[in-house]
Amino acid sequence: MVLYESTRGGNEGISSAEAIKRGISPNGGLYVPQKIKEITQKDILDMVNMSYQQRAVFILKQYLDDYTDDELVNCVNSAYNTNKFSNTDIAPLTPVNENLCLLELWHGPTCAFKDMALQILPHFLVKAVEKTGEKSEIVILVATSGDTGKAALEGFADVKGTRIMVFYPENGVSEVQKYQMITQTGNNVNVFGVKGNFDDTQTGVKRIFTDEQLISEMAKRNFKFSSANSINWGRLVPQIIYYFSAYADLIRINRIKPGDKVNFVVPTGNFGNILAGFYAKRMGLPVNKLVCASNDNNVLTDFIRTGNYDRRRKFIRTVSPSMDILISSNLERLLYELTDHDSKNVSDWMNQLNEVGYYEIGQNLLDCLHKSFWAGWSNQDETLKTIECVYKDYNYVLDTHTAVAVDVYDKYVITTGDLTPSIIVSTASPFKFNGSVCKALFGEERIESKSEFELLEILSKESNMPIPAGLKDLDKKSILHNTVCEKYDMKTVVTQNLF
Ligand SMILES: *Cc1c(COP(=O)(O)O)cnc(C)c1O
Repeated sequence: MVLYESTRGGNEGISSAEAIKRGISPNGGLYVPQKIKEITQKDILDMVNMSYQQRAVFILKQYLDDYTDDELVNCVNSAYNTNKFSNTDIAPLTPVNENLCLLELWHGPTCAFKDMALQILPHFLVKAVEKTGEKSEIVILVATSGDTGKAALEGFADVKGTRIMVFYPENGVSEVQKYQMITQTGNNVNVFGVKGNFDDTQTGVKRIFTDEQLISEMAKRNFKFSSANSINWGRLVPQIIYYFSAYADLIRINRIKPGDKVNFVVPTGNFGNILAGFYAKRMGLPVNKLVCASNDNNVLTDFIRTGNYDRRRKFIRTVSPSMDILISSNLERLLYELTDHDSKNVSDWMNQLNEVGYYEIGQNLLDCLHKSFWAGWSNQDETLKTIECVYKDYNYVLDTHTAVAVDVYDKYVITTGDLTPSIIVSTASPFKFNGSVCKALFGEERIESKSEFELLEILSKESNMPIPAGLKDLDKKSILHNTVCEKYDMKTVVTQNLF
């Protein structure tokens, strides 16, 4: 059986169900598998003729091996179906030119890639509660930069035995994102704005998770916290699937031969998506480079180039808000893997980051990092320009996050000359960030004084694409959640709503 341990040490060795139920380790670390499973080239070839659902079961059972095959098939079929996803391929690969494909991860109900994991996590969790004989009600706490919140609400609404509380930075999300959340229905859901940015919100939630006094009060009342953020292993593992799936599809459409290497370019914030790509590579997927694309909050670009992680800089609100992050949680898992599970070093770095705002990993580890990663960033003008150019050249509308990746990919090719076939991981529908997308396509004047909701119609007419069901008529729905709190009041808000 694959056992899970914390990146901050302690010799736990718990099952995947237990790791998924807990979300984060009590010592503040993140759960990782003790061993990385290997996938052979023959397995990958077998995947070529499988459906997305079959590929999903194959990958999931490598890591969630305390779940039965039947349980995994059930989870997969409940999550990845055409009631939830608007494309039968679930994660289709769309070629844009001879060398480049987009992996579209936004055909789920909330129009961003978070659905790929958050449609299935609630099913894992409900089974995990059963398997571990848990009697408490599970309280899911979420910090969101915009997309996770809605995807988690959509996944957990009315799921028996769970409650969900979402915190978002009050002024840090788009109108569409905000309306998606504050109009959420369901008996077990709560949504709160926080006066602060995403890092404040995420730090607040992490603090609540590790508040021992609160946890014991919760236990007395039969509540237990868990996480739907990408610190939960149950969110990481479904993301590994689409890296294999995209590779299998490239073979299927004769773009590569089995065994050929490919690059993945990933618009990155909390480092969850690209980390799944790293696990795929470690498992044996022929990946050349994982290109980490950032926006103006380019803390990861600097880190990957210099080995110095320094969050002491101004937080910038950009047109790609889901990547406006200075503390990338999942980097902790990468460091743990790259140091061969050195929990002492990892704990020291994370404490240093917390206390003084930076840490440095040293040359040896940096060399090791460069074997798998390259990093670059795109400023907001470049991002909008990229949306305009790709539309002109290929008649394809990118969202702002994916545009960051396309721009960084251009920079990668110019800098390295590497022409390995590449896949851009496309993380959101352009409709979700239509304010900025319309500005890029039609210019400031044409969109002036129009609400994001009017712009949905304009974008739909111009691009000949239907408005996604989840975004239509959002402004006509009733607002059900309008509480806003100070960042130091988040704990009070939680207790008031539970006790
Ligand atoms: C969350 C998100 C990202 C960043 O993904 P991470 O896993 O946090 O690195 C990028 N684009 C969109 C649209 C997102 O919602």
